[in-house]
Amino acid sequence: MTLESTLGDVPVSDTPNNQGLGQKSFSILNWNLLTSPGLSLRNEKNNCWYHATLHFLSVFPPFSESLNYNEQVSEFPRRFTDAISAIVRKQNLTPINHLFELIKDFQGVNNRYGQIAVPDFLEYLSTQITSLFDLVRFQLTTKLQCLKCKWISYRISHDLLFKLYIPPGSKTKCSISQLFDYNTSADFLDQSISCGKCCQRTGHQLSYEHQSDIIMLEIIRVSEKKRGNRITWRKNMLPISFPTSGISVPGTDRKYQVVASCHHRGTLRSGHWITKLMIADRNWHEFDDLRSDIFVTQAPGVNDSSVVVLFLRAESTSLR
Ligand SMILES: [Zn+2]
Repeated sequence: MTLESTLGDVPVSDTPNNQGLGQKSFSILNWNLLTSPGLSLRNEKNNCWYHATLHFLSVFPPFSESLNYNEQVSEFPRRFTDAISAIVRKQNLTPINHLFELIKDFQGVNNRYGQIAVPDFLEYLSTQITSLFDLVRFQLTTKLQCLKCKWISYRISHDLLFKLYIPPGSKTKCSISQLFDYNTSADFLDQSISCGKCCQRTGHQLSYEHQSDIIMLEIIRVSEKKRGNRITWRKNMLPISFPTSGISVPGTDRKYQVVASCHHRGTLRSGHWITKLMIADRNWHEFDDLRSDIFVTQAPGVNDSSVVVLFLRAESTSLR
């Protein structure tokens, strides 16, 4: 059970702040899925992680629209939206190569997948292009209630990726609801936490709240293993099952659908990143830069042993 990503964030105040994406210029109600799959990209520099990430982000319209934010737009965000736009509008490869020149310095975080990982590159992009990526950050309110005096402390985090760890000991398969349960249903009944109100070490109950339109999930498929002084990585290919719509996420009554997924296939020594996207006709398409073209494929989530990142959006009646 890991809570660092949420509890590790700065406590903001005693009152929850539920200002969400609704206040930003982009509205989920205006979000149309792509009408056709985008530009096919070919692997040349062992950069499938780069191509898979760009394709994954191409489902989100603000990433391919020209920037009209009030703050000054520097070169990085501009090249980024140009690259995504080139994919969506099936233009030429120049903007994609231009962006790659800027990210050459990014060598990955710890190359836990044996190469740069899509989730690490997503995090990197979000630090370079903060205003755009704030649109897809997941604002989560964590409520910790003292079981003695009932005082509730609130913490608010703005994570890019909602990280889901695979329950240890999972042998055959796991559903996405089991993943959510494992990652969010902890209580601290062992009196390990000191209450900020009654100042005693008391049992605490943990719960979550959010109003997110968009959630990016990362299924943590790679874990660290120490062998003496050496750190090695191990990949978990456990099949994960999920529907592509009607997904329940802890902390809200809203339901979510999957619109894109990134997959890592193979081993840590010789692995490959690919992306699947749903387009407006509800067909799923696969972008694999080792293949000559984009092709119609099975939706993710069917005993899915390769899925790592999911792009979820809240379901709405105005979908087209
Ligand atoms: Zn208390």
